[in-house]
Amino acid sequence: ANRIERDVVIIGAGASGLTAANALRDAGHSVVVLEARDRVGGRLWTREIDGATLEIGGQWVSPDQDALIDTLAELGLETYSRYREGDSVYVAADGTRTRFTGEIFPVAPETAAEIERLIALLDGLVAEVDPAAPWDHPRAAEYDQVSWKQWLSEQTDDVEARDNIALYIAEAMLTKPSHAFSLLQALLMAASAGSFSHLVDADFILDKRVVGGLQQVPLKLAERLGDDVILNAAVRRLEWTGGADASGADGTPIQGVVAYADGGIEVAAKRAIVALPPNLFERIDFQPALPRLVQQAHQHLSLGLVIKVHAVYATPFWREQGLSGTAFSPYRIVHEAYDNSYDGDPRGTLVGFVSDQKADDVFSLPAEERKARILASLADYYGPEALSPEVYFESDWAAEEWTRGAYAASYDLGGLSRYGAHQTTPVGPIHWSCSDFAPEGYQHVDGAIRLGRTTAAAIAEQLRG
Ligand code: FAD
Repeated sequence: ANRIERDVVIIGAGASGLTAANALRDAGHSVVVLEARDRVGGRLWTREIDGATLEIGGQWVSPDQDALIDTLAELGLETYSRYREGDSVYVAADGTRTRFTGEIFPVAPETAAEIERLIALLDGLVAEVDPAAPWDHPRAAEYDQVSWKQWLSEQTDDVEARDNIALYIAEAMLTKPSHAFSLLQALLMAASAGSFSHLVDADFILDKRVVGGLQQVPLKLAERLGDDVILNAAVRRLEWTGGADASGADGTPIQGVVAYADGGIEVAAKRAIVALPPNLFERIDFQPALPRLVQQAHQHLSLGLVIKVHAVYATPFWREQGLSGTAFSPYRIVHEAYDNSYDGDPRGTLVGFVSDQKADDVFSLPAEERKARILASLADYYGPEALSPEVYFESDWAAEEWTRGAYAASYDLGGLSRYGAHQTTPVGPIHWSCSDFAPEGYQHVDGAIRLGRTTAAAIAEQLRG
């Protein structure tokens, strides 16, 4: 076996693990990052597909994402704006296609008024929720017992208003059906982005992209670590000693960990950071087993499901029709779509998203039929020219062994108030870091970076003391 000794072993070379590794190294600690895949970046992956540069995973940056913005500046990366000139398109339940500007969908005036009322109501509720501790809200348990769908149906009888408000959290963010998560989980999602209104504002939440692709962030962070990032090294077992917590109280002094990875790699370290999405924690054989509460908590977290679809055309033909490329419909397979043309590429690229049960439905079809259905959905927004792209690609993260869903993890009903307070509590020498546990930037790269920094700082403090 190849035995390595370090102060800290980091499991997972995504944005979170690599941020933590760099921060610890800058604080004078030795580190090694073990990564299961043959590449770094995890849910960030910029690829050339048939001559087009596509963001298979995360890509957008919003103006409040300070941690990501700082990191981009520090790494010398530049951004450019998403194309957004012209009209957006909305398709109603009956298939009517309407062009519009601004944020509120072109619906009957009563429905528009309901949508505005619900947004204001939600902004008020969200303002009371601390994204770092949603479980501390006085009504947390109550908010965590009612599904997002149920709560919305109690607020209004206007089905179209409900469907549109539901979309911002369900299809567009958690990528789960609105009956599958709680109001509290929805409020956390919005609070982590600053407000519910921010989620409604595509120009805010999907503002900028990174020249060269967002995977540059993990690639450059890994470059700085050189040989201390080891690929094809899935960690299969983690032995740990001392200081259990989260109701496994034990209190013996922490001695450390030994991580066993593919390739005969063994790393002995004082601390470990498990920097994976929580649905994958179970894939590591923890010895001894994690405390009861932690084992339970991890079982109540799951990833959503979304297909990110790219279609590249000879020209951005929609722009000639005065369309921005932005399109929404809670009633179409592709519930939202945008102009995603790559910086400097004269061709036009559309990106569309197919979420939760709609993704199940199209995945049950043969590939050609799935493609035809998805392109027909784009044609509903942009016209028949959308049917014939030069390049077509579906991101299929649920089929990736080391992710198994997209975009990120959320709790089932009641899970957030029951377990959330413990989710980042270390277990002896083992710390947790991923976008899925971030207060600000929850589910986003910004959150992955924030938690990477916080986790590194906590470990540096312990090792100093
Ligand atoms: P990950 O990136 O998942 O990193 C975990 C790493 O651990 C992976 O590299 C994995 O291979 C590795 N690993 C797993 N198991 C093991 C093991 N046993 N041993 C060793 N290594 C292991 N965010 C935004 O901010 N903006 C967006 O526009 C956006 N769009 C998205 C679109 C898609 C399609 C997807 C999938 C995500 C999107 N996100 C977006 C979310 C964002 O990409 C993630 O939140 C973020 O990249 C997660 O970083 P992470 O480090 O927490 O986890």
